[in-house]
Amino acid sequence: MRRVLVTGGAGFIGSHLCERLLDQGNDVICLDNFSTSSRHNILHLLQNPHFEVIRHDVIEPIRLEVDQIYHLACPASPIHYQINPIKTIKTSVSGSINMLGIAKRQRARILLASTSEVYGDPQVHPQPESYWGNVNPIGPRSCYDEGKRCAETLFFDYHRQHKTDIAVVRIFNTYGPRMLPNDGRVVSNFIVQALTGQNITMYGSGNQTRSFCYVDDLVAGLIQMMNATAETGPVNLGNPEEYTIQELAKKIIQITGSSSQIIYQPLPQDDPTQRKPDITLAQKKLGWQPTVPVDIGLPKTVEYFRNLLKNQP
Ligand code: NAD
Ligand code: UDP
Repeated sequence: MRRVLVTGGAGFIGSHLCERLLDQGNDVICLDNFSTSSRHNILHLLQNPHFEVIRHDVIEPIRLEVDQIYHLACPASPIHYQINPIKTIKTSVSGSINMLGIAKRQRARILLASTSEVYGDPQVHPQPESYWGNVNPIGPRSCYDEGKRCAETLFFDYHRQHKTDIAVVRIFNTYGPRMLPNDGRVVSNFIVQALTGQNITMYGSGNQTRSFCYVDDLVAGLIQMMNATAETGPVNLGNPEEYTIQELAKKIIQITGSSSQIIYQPLPQDDPTQRKPDITLAQKKLGWQPTVPVDIGLPKTVEYFRNLLKNQP
């Protein structure tokens, strides 16, 4: 049986990944410091004898015996990663060094959950992996963007210097059940606002675009990349369906049947104007492409939040 380490395994994407890896018959170790998640995401897995949880901060070294590592530990929403930006950089840099150390010693294959944010405010559209990006190195998003860029560098240097078996994926905006209702990301914000009759907070004009991938598709892509022997990446994983934030708000208002009104607030600094993955490489190298359109994925996510809010005091 394969021993698989998932750092950030209690988070939104990580908890879905742990679930899928257990279903596929792996022994799964979830390592998390629960800084942006809670045990609720993995409660249903705790009785599984093949599932183990370690409360640990990836910034601190740790020794583990594993065959594969999915390295996801890092705050992902702008609100979370900007609370303590220095810690965010340390998480990406020291955290990656520590996990690469395990991979090197154990000869384990290690996957980095990098991000479309490495493209910054992109001047090439859609974004292929060959694009080097347009990132502000000193702005409020830099702790995340530059942290992930440095993590990518570390992965490739370990590969070149120590022959470490690496896989780097660049994840584009992903949504679905188990997103936190209050972490500030657009899908969860708009759904919670629509369901509770609050104003929908549109930042800027709402003409900026994003491309939204349903979490089940993303998890399939992560596993396919892990299984693509010797493929280093970077490979984009995302759904190329592109929407303006205005269009997203209208869809959510329509799905929820909400009477919430849109209000306009200032656009955060360095907010990317447009974003859409070129997934040619993922299609060619992994045989992967998303299967869940936004019109199917959003109603499922709305259902999740409806239940969550119903059960909250
Ligand atoms: P999340 O915040 O739900 O999950 C991150 C998990 O990492 C949490 O459980 C958190 O407690 C844990 N964590 C954070 N810092 C840690 C540390 N120092 N030590 C140990 N654990 C730590 O976010 P998510 O959306 O599930 O994102 C998972 C990964 O995917 C992140 O690396 C993120 O950068 C990447 N990613 C996500 C998206 C997206 O749209 N969700 C897009 C691009 C990249
Ligand atoms: N956004 C918005 N209202 C919100 C939250 C986000 O208009 O309540 C916008 C945000 O400015 C950005 C887009 O939605 O243009 C996506 O934001 P998110 O934080 O989800 O992801 P990221 O900017 O990291 O892609």
